[in-house]
Order: sequence, then C-alpha cells, then structure tokens
Amino acid sequence: MLLIGSHVKYNSATQLLGSVKEALSYGATTFMFYTGAPQNTARSPINKSIVENAQKMMEENNIDINKVVVHAPYIINLANTEKYDFAVSFLKQEVKRCEEIGIKYMVLHPGSHVGLGEEVGINNIVNGLNDVLENSKVTILLETMAGKGSELGCNLDQIKTIIDKVTNKDKIGICLDTCHLNDAGYDVNNFDNILDEVDKKVGLKFVGCIHINDSKNPISSHKDRHENIGYGTIGFDTLIDIIYNKRLEDIPKILETPYIGEHAPYKEEIEMIKNKKFEDFKANIN
Ligand code: FE
Ligand code: FE
Ligand code: ZN
Repeated sequence: MLLIGSHVKYNSATQLLGSVKEALSYGATTFMFYTGAPQNTARSPINKSIVENAQKMMEENNIDINKVVVHAPYIINLANTEKYDFAVSFLKQEVKRCEEIGIKYMVLHPGSHVGLGEEVGINNIVNGLNDVLENSKVTILLETMAGKGSELGCNLDQIKTIIDKVTNKDKIGICLDTCHLNDAGYDVNNFDNILDEVDKKVGLKFVGCIHINDSKNPISSHKDRHENIGYGTIGFDTLIDIIYNKRLEDIPKILETPYIGEHAPYKEEIEMIKNKKFEDFKANIN
C-alpha cells in the first residue's frame, strides 16, 4: 500500500482524533502532526479516551500507527548551549507524549550552531540525543536540512557523524526532505544516487520518513521554501519517481507543502500522486 499523507493539525480539544479525521479527509494512508503549535512548546495533557478512539479509527481505516510520525517543534535547538537544558527536557517530555499516544517516530531538526561552529554544534546534538534516547521507546529521525544560516544536518556526512556517535542505534534514524535536499545541493532527479550514499554512509534501514515537497528555489540555494508538488523547481515527475521508488516502499511519505490562502492542498496533491498525473489544481482555487 502506498504510504502517503501530509502534516495535519492537532489541537487540545480533539487531539489525535482531530488529526486522524483530517488525514482521512485527504484520502491519506498515514500522516504527521505536531503535538502542539510547531513554533512553541506549550503542550496540553493527553486525554486517554481520545487516544483510544483515535487508535480505533485508525485501525478501522487501515492507518498503521507505527508509520505515523510526530514532528518536534522547530524552535528546539540541541546544537546551541544557550537553551540546551530546556531543549533536552522538552524533548524528553515529547518522547513521553509520543509513548502515551502510541507513536514510534519523531522527526527532529538537528539544530543550528549559531556561531559555535560545526564541530561543537554536532557534539552538543550528540550529547543531547544520547541523553534523550537513553530510555526512549521512540525513534528520533534527524531531518536533512537545507543549510539555511548555521543549520546542521545539511549534508549526509554531518548526519553520519551524528549517528555514528549516538549510542542507542535502535532509536536513531533519518528523515529525508526533498526540498531540503535540493536546496542543500543534492540532485533529487537521481534519487537512487542519494539513497546509495545514505546506504553507504549510514545504512538505508535508518531512513524512517520522507518529506515530499517541491522547492521554490533552484538546487544549492540553501533557502528552504517549500512549494506545492509540480509547481516548483523539482517538478511533478521527479517527485512521483521518489514516491514510487521501490526502495522506499515501506517508508511514510509526508507532504509539507504550503496552503493556498486558507485552503489545504493535500486532498488534491494526494489525488494527483495516486493518479500519477499532474493537474493545475491551484487554478480552481479562488
Ligand atoms: Fe521539518
Ligand atoms: Fe521537512
Ligand atoms: Zn523545510
């Protein structure tokens, strides 16, 4: 079965049940969510009966909870020591929340060194991960980044360096983001080359999630601005090839493409992906 979905909302009232319903409304077979607002760390307690109802709804609709992913808030920065203790303690709580909900994977931006330099930044990330992952039942997937500012994890060597130094190898992995890879300088038209490099450096089994985004900018731009699929510099056919690459069959593919005004694009994009046919759906919106 094609594992395709998008990031969906999560609010304190409907929690996971609201997220599942939103994913189903797009025709998705998996999804990703933040356990609260992505740009802050305010989190509400998890309601057990909502979790049970949501899990039941997932089962009834063939959504495998083992393939559903949480994204850690992007203000969490393990690379810089300024808010390091807060970042580590927040991530530990986030792991606990995932465990309570039954989620096995959490995507994390490795962090930005903000002037400390690559080596120090990476060491901070490793120390933080080793602390957080010590007793974790959740696997943290390090997202490949575009290389904006002092972002770390913008090439596979940095990802390899981090993973090599993480003690709990069962609980660390990678999330490949097509827009970020493109913006970082990887040619996503030859995705098998990228997968070969991942396999050689860390092992393909570490890949736990793929973010499917087109890019507003050309290769090596280091910008990180997502575009709707088929409307950017990567293009529809290339993204389809990645989505249907046999080596990635069991890995959830998640759209993080921009809304068109108030309109979520995911129903249309998932439909195009299922049909393997591009349609100018934006023309029909407003
Ligand atoms: Fe991300
Ligand atoms: Fe992403
Ligand atoms: Zn991005």
